[in-house]
Amino acid sequence: MVKQLILDKIKEYETIIIHRHVRPDADALGSQCGLKEIIRLSFPTKKVYAVGEEDPALHFFARMDNVNDEIYNDALVIICDTANTGRISDERYKLGKEIIKIDHHPNNDPYGDIMWVDTSASSTSEMIYDFFKFEEKKELQFNGQIARLIYGGIVGDTGRFLFPSTSDKTFRYAAELIEYPFDRTKLYNGLYSVGDNIARLRGYVLQNFTLSPNGMSSIKLTKEILDKHKVEPIDTGKLVGTLGDIENIKAWVFFIEEDDVIRVRVRSKGPVINDLAAKFNGGGHPLAAGASVKTWEEAKRFITDLEEICANHIETAH
Ligand code: AMP
Repeated sequence: MVKQLILDKIKEYETIIIHRHVRPDADALGSQCGLKEIIRLSFPTKKVYAVGEEDPALHFFARMDNVNDEIYNDALVIICDTANTGRISDERYKLGKEIIKIDHHPNNDPYGDIMWVDTSASSTSEMIYDFFKFEEKKELQFNGQIARLIYGGIVGDTGRFLFPSTSDKTFRYAAELIEYPFDRTKLYNGLYSVGDNIARLRGYVLQNFTLSPNGMSSIKLTKEILDKHKVEPIDTGKLVGTLGDIENIKAWVFFIEEDDVIRVRVRSKGPVINDLAAKFNGGGHPLAAGASVKTWEEAKRFITDLEEICANHIETAH
């Protein structure tokens, strides 16, 4: 069984370096650092590191370690929450002796010596809690600090238990996790409170989104608009859900202009959108995906394709 194989590997190695995807979100950090702390607590003599670029907005949640290249020589590398190698934060993952993939995205890019992919899991953090629970000898330890990371990851990827990926298991795990001591209110504030600049940009989004008869919605956040609101592209993660509650929207897309690329963040209430994202250098889940385009012309083509997907979805739904 794959969880046992992973545990055996963890026991075998003295040095373990854990990676996750670029532009980290709560699930990426929660699974990465939750696993790190489980290993550290359970096997105190092992050297365990979490690496990758940081997002200052998530400093409150988890911080990264600095690791020299030489440390990789005899290391086991575990990569959490990252479907494809192109999105792994910190390319040095290749320097490790063996690689383990732990993820809940569709396995379009199988990589690693051991793979544990469970697309039925709400989040990779939920899988890490699964990993802790599977082991019956109670060698693996858990505490409030880890519960906070895992709970935060689950909350982040389920949109606070809203998205259909939230299962009965997710709720059971959440109930167990909140029995550990950690400050849930502080965690929610850290994850969801926004600065007035983001709030005003949210106002702009609500004033300016398009909505087609097929239920396709889009919004362009140009550099000019972002600068005017003093919002960095990385902070737009807190805006993408804004259109989710609006009646008749089936799928929606945010285009966020960065220095050399236009970032695409796409969400859906039914039509499958990750195949479309894959066509535009991206990927993700059936109802939440990301991609990138180079020009506004290409963005237009993305909109046309999304429109078609929404139109077809209406046809099949009736
Ligand atoms: P985001 O809009 O960044 O929150 O991403 C939504 C989902 O799509 C997440 O599960 C990401 O892991 C995935 N995703 C975002 N961008 C990409 C990309 N360029 N390639 C593959 N998956 C992506």
